[in-house]
Amino acid sequence: MALIVRGKSKCAICERVIGERDEVVATSHFISEQSDPLWRYSDAPFHFDCFQKWDTREQFVAKFNDLMSTSIWGSGKRHHMRADGFIEVLRIEETPEERHARVRSFIIESLRERNARPLKEGTCSFCAHQLSESEAMITGGGMTICSQCREERLRQSRDSAAWKPAEANSPCAICCMGGKYPDVEHTPLGRYVTAGHGFYLCEECLDICAQLEKERRVT
Ligand SMILES: [Zn+2]
Ligand SMILES: [Zn+2]
Ligand SMILES: [Zn+2]
Repeated sequence: MALIVRGKSKCAICERVIGERDEVVATSHFISEQSDPLWRYSDAPFHFDCFQKWDTREQFVAKFNDLMSTSIWGSGKRHHMRADGFIEVLRIEETPEERHARVRSFIIESLRERNARPLKEGTCSFCAHQLSESEAMITGGGMTICSQCREERLRQSRDSAAWKPAEANSPCAICCMGGKYPDVEHTPLGRYVTAGHGFYLCEECLDICAQLEKERRVT
């Protein structure tokens, strides 16, 4: 949400200061294209009354809802702007299978980009081993895992001590983003998780890491 300093920040429509008691409408930064005529209104506050009378209001609301409808992470929630500018959080309707498929493809897409090329350097979060460029590793969600640790964990049977059934207090660093964001669902994609140094990875995300490593080797 735009940072608003009452008595200092200015309304993007009338350019007058937002007062102590003024009702305010504001969005987060949602338009990245600077050439967009609406760009300067993204991440900016408006007087509630100015917003209602604004001749571009309908266009702005439509743009917000259009762009924000695609930015759903693991939360299954999306931000929706009402005609008056008030933003509400709506839960998208989906079956557990649909959620699974959505989160999985989102993870693959975002990790694929980051791991398209071997990393120059890094430290495996599991074994603390310093990695050189020649070694395979996958990074994402604030952790890095070397191919050895990944293979070792995937080889271990799910009922060994290295694994435990997934619970809300063991959020996967990748698909639950480590539980860092209150908005994100804390149920991992996989049914089991394995622990690293202060974080968890679920079996399914580990499998995705394996898939991405393979992809990288082929290309
Ligand atoms: Zn105004
Ligand atoms: Zn390792
Ligand atoms: Zn996961």
